[in-house]
Amino acid sequence: MDYRNFVGGQWLETTDSTPNVNPSDISDILGYAAKAGVDQLDQAIDAAHQAAPGWAASTPQQRFDVLDFVGSELLARKAELGRLLSREEGKTLPEGIGEVARAGQIFKFFAGEALRLAGDRLASVRPGIEVDVTRFPIGVVGLITPWNFPIAIPAWKIAPALCYGNAVILKPAELVPGCAHALIEILSRSGLPEGVVNLVMGRGSQIGPRLVESAKVKAISFTGSVPTGRGIAAACGQHLKKVQLEMGGKNPMVVLDDADLAIAVEASLNGAFFSTGQRCTASSRLVVTEGIHERFVEALAERMQALKVGNALEDGVQMGPVVDERQLQQNLSYVDIAAKQGGKVQGGERLNRDTEGFYMAPALVSETDNAMRINTEEVFGPVASVIRVKDYEEALAVANDTEFGLSAGICTTSLKHASHFKANAEAGMVMVNLPTAGVDYHVPFGGTKGSSFGSREQGRYAAEFYTSVKTAYTLP
Ligand code: NAD
Repeated sequence: MDYRNFVGGQWLETTDSTPNVNPSDISDILGYAAKAGVDQLDQAIDAAHQAAPGWAASTPQQRFDVLDFVGSELLARKAELGRLLSREEGKTLPEGIGEVARAGQIFKFFAGEALRLAGDRLASVRPGIEVDVTRFPIGVVGLITPWNFPIAIPAWKIAPALCYGNAVILKPAELVPGCAHALIEILSRSGLPEGVVNLVMGRGSQIGPRLVESAKVKAISFTGSVPTGRGIAAACGQHLKKVQLEMGGKNPMVVLDDADLAIAVEASLNGAFFSTGQRCTASSRLVVTEGIHERFVEALAERMQALKVGNALEDGVQMGPVVDERQLQQNLSYVDIAAKQGGKVQGGERLNRDTEGFYMAPALVSETDNAMRINTEEVFGPVASVIRVKDYEEALAVANDTEFGLSAGICTTSLKHASHFKANAEAGMVMVNLPTAGVDYHVPFGGTKGSSFGSREQGRYAAEFYTSVKTAYTLP
């Protein structure tokens, strides 16, 4: 399969390409992905720039029809596309299918939102004057996405961008061209005018800066790592461009003495290790009070060691491989650093399976303190650490003692502590008796502190980013 770039309604000839490798079986090449240079990116920017006014003038019905078409097809093909996703990214088949379904639901949600585009009419403070507040598209938006949710993240950026009348250039992560291509292929048949959606695959470091700096691109929505995000924010600041960043996490899961142990273990297992821990919302710091600590660590380690790690496409596998060799080496080196700094490590070794891939046993590092590197830096793999604390007050202080602020969880049966935690956890999303990862598609997603910058994604809050506001005064 050749994944080609899609620009101005045409699939472009590929001049340079890279293989798309299955992380569960490196002998399985899914296809070859086009690697755009700046010339193809410039074509995409021009095409989007030309198409933007037409789409900005489209009716709510036209927008609904496009978004509903895409949502319906994603839902109808979730088994097939979920398989592609699992083969390409390495999450298990049920996780892959679930992600495609979620992408479909996101398109359906924004199809509905297109019919509810609204403004405000207010009375003026001056007599006889009318005030209207209306929302406008911003024009061409550049969407830069990571590899770990290869269809859901492009969906949660493209769907609102189109819903609110913008033209799009998608620059997906290099490791997951197949999902991006499949999504754009559906969009190419959705009735959208040429140039409204464009796909430009290529090296982020080569074409990313030009996308960010082009005067024709009015806003950048980025999800990825902190260093890349900071660079993009600086460039957008220089060009006075609207920017939205969703970046890393070091999400705490607090477990209090009064927690239901089974719920706490289940939530931590899911939050830390599902999707191979490759979630920005993963529960990577387990902050546990001393009365439940031993029982919790023992029960979680037992469940973790029983997880079936293997080929993402195999029945019954609960944790797929790491996405690539580089990420696997990074995970192993963090486990090593944690052990050297005094952590007690269970699991965390490289594994061999029938097919050659990037397999690793999930790792639990207990006896850590919050200043250790394992607790300050994002690993982005199936590695969780445990920090023992005295009581709720210390747990909250440790949970908040991080430069990140994406998601935070607490397992407790105390309404008082749950309520206090919801109000005082320094995070954009707070979970009570639930994993830190796993969110709804119709409500805002995003964090505080070093995890996020700019307005929230998803739900109706997405309008803040994908529109600008005009206030009009009339003396009739
Ligand atoms: P990354 O920063 O390496 O890459 C993200 C995207 O940026 C890719 O498409 C890449 O090609 C592009 N890019 C790279 N250099 C660029 C540049 N100079 N200019 C413009 N674009 C450039 O991140 P990744 O490794 O793909 O993803 C993993 C990271 O994403 C983790 O840190 C994870 O926490 C984060 N993440 C965050 C969220 C969230 O919503 N907060 C969700 C998923 C992943």
